Amino acid sequence: MPTVKAYAAAAAASPLAPFEIERRAPGPDDVVIDVLFCGVCHSDIHQARDEWGGGLFPMVPGHEIVGRVSKVGAAVRGFQAGDLAGVGCMVDSCRTCHPCQRHLEQFCEKGAAFTYNGTEMDRKTPTFGGYSKQVVCHQAFVLKVAPTLDPAAAAPLLCAGITTWSPLRHWKAGKGTRVGVVGLGGLGHMAVKLAAALGAEVTMLSTSAAKEADSRRLGAHEFGLTSQKATFKRFANHFDLIIDTISAPHDYNAYLSMVRVDGTMVLLGVPPAPTPVHAFTLIGGRKSLAGSLIGGIQETQEMLDFCAEKKVAADVEVIPMKAINDAYERMMKGDVRYRFSIDLATL
Ligand SMILES: [Zn+2]
Ligand SMILES: [Zn+2]
Repeated sequence: MPTVKAYAAAAAASPLAPFEIERRAPGPDDVVIDVLFCGVCHSDIHQARDEWGGGLFPMVPGHEIVGRVSKVGAAVRGFQAGDLAGVGCMVDSCRTCHPCQRHLEQFCEKGAAFTYNGTEMDRKTPTFGGYSKQVVCHQAFVLKVAPTLDPAAAAPLLCAGITTWSPLRHWKAGKGTRVGVVGLGGLGHMAVKLAAALGAEVTMLSTSAAKEADSRRLGAHEFGLTSQKATFKRFANHFDLIIDTISAPHDYNAYLSMVRVDGTMVLLGVPPAPTPVHAFTLIGGRKSLAGSLIGGIQETQEMLDFCAEKKVAADVEVIPMKAINDAYERMMKGDVRYRFSIDLATL
């Protein structure tokens, strides 16, 4: 089996360091991709440090992968050597369960094969992510990336992009709808860009006044400072949809007060402890509190095509592979605008 250079965490307490992995020789349905850029997601840090438990080590993180196809199996249709291609959070699923049939592979009842810190569907072969020179993936889970997209800035679309796109589409954000985005980080900045590109009226809701200029530059029409009570009054019963990207503890009831009748607040972040919600908060306005997780493969392709058409991509700081441990420290401090993208030519 071909040996591929990578960066791995040997154990939960270890920094990431050079490592060699084996990738399978391509089967008839496989696409071999030489990785150009890999975005750095917050969940990479949680998993490399085993903060969610059950981590499989050595671990090669990375699920925001854009690269160039170098080889395809005999049965592959729609990809050829030289094409730009992407791989996101999943590399396979059962393809027969109810969610899979609905193109919601992320909710596969058998458990999708996640791109790293997991196994292939044989439940034995470990999966390794995009902090590596090459990935091999079944064609059904490979995305087409338009050559007009900058590959470094497109990489974060494979997780941050689809994670925000999926709820915007599901709850029909667009012209004539008011969308509030809570938190301006990797997810929040994509939510603002995508909601604005869809034609929605977008408001950034942040605890930091320093984020106002940037959120307007990204496409937000309004800004609300959530450290001030007056903001919740100003936007009372205002939004059709709130996209909540925050993982720090916060009061959902207060944010739901800004949702209008029949509106929805969607959680993308996971605070460390459960948050109480008063039934009246929902009853008084037929409001919904919902959650969302990445998106299906078909929907991911739709998002990438939309981004190519509208010239939308992430704001990235490109880093060499060896800077990854420093990048993690900076992300812990919120010191990135708004995504690191690793240049795999440096590995
Ligand atoms: Zn991610
Ligand atoms: Zn399934």
